[in-house]
Formats: sequence, C-alpha cells, structure tokens
Amino acid sequence: MEITAIYPGSFDPITNGHIDIISRGLNIFHKIIIAVMNHPGKKSLFTAEERKEMIEEIYGDEARIEVDVFKGLLVDYVEQRGANVIVRGLRVVSDFEYEMQMAQMNRKLDTRIETVFMMPREIYSYLSSSLIKEIASYGGNIDCFVPKSIKTRLEAKFNAPPDA
Ligand code: ADP
Repeated sequence: MEITAIYPGSFDPITNGHIDIISRGLNIFHKIIIAVMNHPGKKSLFTAEERKEMIEEIYGDEARIEVDVFKGLLVDYVEQRGANVIVRGLRVVSDFEYEMQMAQMNRKLDTRIETVFMMPREIYSYLSSSLIKEIASYGGNIDCFVPKSIKTRLEAKFNAPPDA
C-alpha cells in the first residue's frame, strides 16, 4: 500500500533538522506532503508563500515531495488530502509533552489519523528555526544547520532596510 504522510509545521525557515526528518520519512512513506501552516495569529519572519517557495527550491526535482500551504484545523487538511498519517519530529524530551497533547487531541478529533514521530540525528536535536533566526540576525555562522539557499534568504531578510 502506498502511504502518503503529511508533515505539518511552521518551517520558518526549514532547517537541516526538518530535512533530516523528511529524508527518514521518505524511507517509509511513498509520498510526503510538507504542509506549511499559515496561522495569521502566529508571527513569522517569512510569509507562508515564501516558506513554501524556499522548501520547493530544495526539493524541486523530488517527485515524492509536495509542498503546500494550509490554514485551519490540521485534521481537516489531512482528510481533505485523503491521508491518514501525520509526521512530526521529536528532538528532546521537552518536545514530548506538547507533541503528545497534539497527537492525542488530533486522534480524538479524527480516529482515523495516526501521528508518527521520528528522531533526527543528534546534531540536529538542539536545532530550531527560532535559534537559527536569532543566530542569523547577529550574523553568526549557520552553515551546518541550513541549506545554502536558506542562508541566502535569511541574510537578505536581515540585511534589508526595516520597511522593505
Ligand atoms: P511547529 O510550529 O509546528 O512546531 P516547526 O517548523 O518548528 O513547526 O516544527 C515542525 C515539526 O518539525 C515539529 O514536529 C518539530 O518538532 C519538528 N522539528 C523542528 N526542528 C527539528 C529538528 N531540528 N529536528 C527534528 N525535528 C524538528
């Protein structure tokens, strides 16, 4: 059976930690839909469209990856896409409580849906998009944590005039 999994997240921006999870996912699932969350209430550095475009640049020729933007309830989106698996990454124990709450709630909302957790390589276990944004904002070295295209986008964002 060919299983399609949904990997939802903010991806603001995508990092090598996310990419590690996606590679592991491709070893198990036939297709992965990377679903960029567009929650107007949640402040982000990049717009949802920019985040989608940045991920597409990385996976341009990978036929088993699709990148999409979604709003609203994740379970509704998963149903709408005809999937029943959600992939999430687990880095450290502190991720567990929130992830477990979300997984249990999503299961309550839709009993068909299973959440699968994957662990990245240790060097990515302390990596987050927020940390990357902070380091990049001070001009720090993020070479081993994001692809070059993402580094370039971050530099452009932080070097742009304030009202650009
Ligand atoms: P969200 O706002 O949904 O947490 P993120 O983009 O921060 O969005 O994360 C999306 C998913 O990817 C989450 O399951 C998160 O735990 C996972 N993730 C984020 N960074 C990493 C990383 N460095 N290694 C493994 N998984 C990660």
